[in-house]
Amino acid sequence: MDETLLLDGKAVARSMKEALEGTIKELKAKGITPKLTTILVGDNPSSHTYVKMKANACHKLGMESERLYLPEETTTEELLSQIKKLNEDEEVHGILLQHPVPKQIDERKAFDAISLAKDVDGVTSHGFGSTAFQLQAYPCCTPAAILEVIDFYNIDVEGKHAVVIGRSPILGKPVSMMLLNRNATVTISHSKTENLEAIVKQADIVVAAVGRPNFVKGDWLKKGAVVIDAGYNEGNIGDCEFESCEPVASAITPVPGGIGPVTIATLLRNTVYAAKEKLINPAHKYV
Ligand code: NAP
Repeated sequence: MDETLLLDGKAVARSMKEALEGTIKELKAKGITPKLTTILVGDNPSSHTYVKMKANACHKLGMESERLYLPEETTTEELLSQIKKLNEDEEVHGILLQHPVPKQIDERKAFDAISLAKDVDGVTSHGFGSTAFQLQAYPCCTPAAILEVIDFYNIDVEGKHAVVIGRSPILGKPVSMMLLNRNATVTISHSKTENLEAIVKQADIVVAAVGRPNFVKGDWLKKGAVVIDAGYNEGNIGDCEFESCEPVASAITPVPGGIGPVTIATLLRNTVYAAKEKLINPAHKYV
């Protein structure tokens, strides 16, 4: 029996960060330190943890990170005015608005206020459209991380049937477009999809982006499927039941240590590119 390949996100992230070190050094020699500003509205404890993790990752690579904390009662207009200031600040190369924002805020309007050249999290409508059309934009981080893992392990995508479970604007939809741009045959499924298990059974590649712990079971899979688990649920649990999926899959990402660390590395890379190129001449292979 062939062994299942464990798709080690930590190794992928390490190699991406190593590849950035030289560019960061060159930029610093020119007096430019890549800087990411993260906006956090309200007191969501998980968001605080994520934002801290991203800041630590920046510092470890010698990048600058700034955290802007806004109160829970912030209005859309107040948030837009902060984003406008950051758009105009020459020293800020990347802007990340931590999701979710409090209910009174028009999240889409806030995301879309981020200038495309600083949209290093790939969350704007313009960024999504540009990614889908393979135009200039920084790709949305988790979807790009999925493609990065696929490339690192030389997984064949062209002509393969990829079933994406989930259609969120930051994950399911963009990763579907990216896989399509790589000539996969893509099925996008969601909470209204009928016969999901039968659809997943046809997949050569399964991307789980559902937000439900252990949702995908091993007996849903075709033997030898590649399983990419983007889920991250409370208690470090993925969207795929690892114990039952691993023996059936030919390759699988663990949770934790799969897509998560690569997502952070992608954010750092997008920010370094933003400091270097400002979208003038990006060589991003996903867009
Ligand atoms: P989301 O916005 O809640 O979207 C979940 C998607 O799953 C929706 O499209 C929903 O369908 C679909 N869905 C829900 N129940 C379903 C069901 N029973 N059958 C089929 N589809 C179903 O979540 P998200 O932001 O995309 O995140 C998804 C997961 O990825 C979460 O676990 C999150 O923590 C994780 N995540 C990880 C990273 C990372 O860095 N590793 C980054 C972002 C997110 P409808 O559209 O019909 O509602």
